[in-house]
Amino acid sequence: MDTEAAVLGLESSCDETAAAVLRADGTILAEAVLSQEKEHSPYGGVVPEIAARAHLEHLPRLVAQVMEKAGLEFSQLAGIAATSGPGLIGGLIVGSTLGKGIALAHGLPFVAVNHLEAHALTATLPGVVETPVRFPYLLLLLSGGHCQCVAVEGVGRYRRLGTTLDDAVGEAFDKAAKLLGLPWPGGPALERLAKAGNPARIPLPRPLLGRPGCDFSWSGLKTAVAHAVARCPGGAPSDQDKADIAAAFQAAVAAVLADRAKHALAMLPEATAMVVAGGVAANQAVRGALSAAAAKRGLPLVAPPIRLCTDNAVMVAWAGVERLRLGLTDELGHAPRPRWPLEGLAA
Ligand code: AMP
Ligand code: MG
Repeated sequence: MDTEAAVLGLESSCDETAAAVLRADGTILAEAVLSQEKEHSPYGGVVPEIAARAHLEHLPRLVAQVMEKAGLEFSQLAGIAATSGPGLIGGLIVGSTLGKGIALAHGLPFVAVNHLEAHALTATLPGVVETPVRFPYLLLLLSGGHCQCVAVEGVGRYRRLGTTLDDAVGEAFDKAAKLLGLPWPGGPALERLAKAGNPARIPLPRPLLGRPGCDFSWSGLKTAVAHAVARCPGGAPSDQDKADIAAAFQAAVAAVLADRAKHALAMLPEATAMVVAGGVAANQAVRGALSAAAAKRGLPLVAPPIRLCTDNAVMVAWAGVERLRLGLTDELGHAPRPRWPLEGLAA
């Protein structure tokens, strides 16, 4: 593919509506992300129907906006890449159908992008990280919807080494935050609160720590937070109690993630780096623990800038570029898939 060729990427699998135009050499010509935080926060979590309607309302405008910024007509694009799974089906239908419509109208190739693959390949986007990573590497996907250790061996070549048995780690942050009376999404608020807390005063369990493999389990930790709150005098924790519980929760999560990452690295001895993605990668305690775990194996912890760690369309366009390079395009009849494991991508 010509390095000047540009791809339009669309993301609508959860609660971020995003569009981006990316050149095949990795130059970001335009990007736009609209978070639906305001729409969902009254409900304390993502409401699928509201998400779908918001994507429908905003995505066409974002597409027009990024195309204008990029200074391109649709007919000048090399292809359209739209997240087609995994995710919430309503949003997936909105984004992939819009992408297919543009592809059909302008005779362009369409790429149905797996959202997890897009996260996995972000670290290979030129200019995104200081030292570009080489395959194979370990990806820790730590978001509101996913919690996985993935061996990234090449484009389309992934092995899931471990996953959560119950909640995603971002979901665990959100639920613990809710128990502490914090607004949704709770991760950032819990991190701020934890700064004033003593992690040792109210110790919390560290699920699966030291166990073989690299699966995760967070629901017991969440229940332990509920019990810790209930044990406070009158079931009403003071501000200091809340800060201490937040600090203990964050310390437990960081310790478990570091332990699971250590096991995952042992399962992928050829790894050249540990890469993190997902909203939880914004957490400084988590980053510190993972970075220490990677350093013990002499590996760097690679974290793309936060705007590219959370859901965005640049990563979708980049996955599109990589797939188009390999001649991997999809039929317009490709059905979006709410569940779509990475292993299913092997060509
Ligand atoms: P994503 O699913 O990638 O869009 O990321 C959203 C998730 O990341 C939510 O569950 C947030 O609570 C979580 N999150 C965002 N920032 C932080 C943070 N600083 N610490 C912990 N979790 C966070
Ligand atoms: Mg999100």
